[in-house]
Amino acid sequence: MAQPKARSLDLRVEPGTGNNCKKCKWGIEDPTNPAMGQCIGMKTRDANIWKRLIKDYYNTTCDRFEEGELSFREHV
Ligand code: SF4
Repeated sequence: MAQPKARSLDLRVEPGTGNNCKKCKWGIEDPTNPAMGQCIGMKTRDANIWKRLIKDYYNTTCDRFEEGELSFREHV
């Protein structure tokens, strides 16, 4: 599967960050383990959703952070 080269969008762990994935509209909390989650904010080069596993949901951020909730329409 093609992976985009988007170095500036790399996830980084920043302990205590206020812009964590939990607050980000692109984050989806793991239903069984809220400390983990997935990010659906990235697209691959073929414009498919590039899901990424977030191991530390409360302390991970990236340059794509956007506060808010994702509405159902924006999912597609
Ligand atoms: S866009 Fe960045 S901050 Fe938002 S959920 Fe994805 S990885 Fe986390």
